[in-house]
Amino acid sequence: MNRRDFFRKSGRIGILAAMGGGVLLLANQKQIDWKCDENLSCRGCVEYASCDLEQAKQSRTNEQREARK
Ligand code: SF4
Repeated sequence: MNRRDFFRKSGRIGILAAMGGGVLLLANQKQIDWKCDENLSCRGCVEYASCDLEQAKQSRTNEQREARK
């Protein structure tokens, strides 16, 4: 590996690391609008209890309301 290859590869690795860090930062701050592609009801989903998507939150709220009746 010569000097030019070293700087080229270092630059690529740096850009990838920065992009990965940015995605993790945005995901951690919940600024990425994740969407669910599941075509099933939330209650049948394995992620239901821990899912933070609005669809799951609404389903849990509805479930709690039905339980109170
Ligand atoms: S619980 Fe979350 S991941 Fe599962 S179907 Fe509902 S919204 Fe999608």
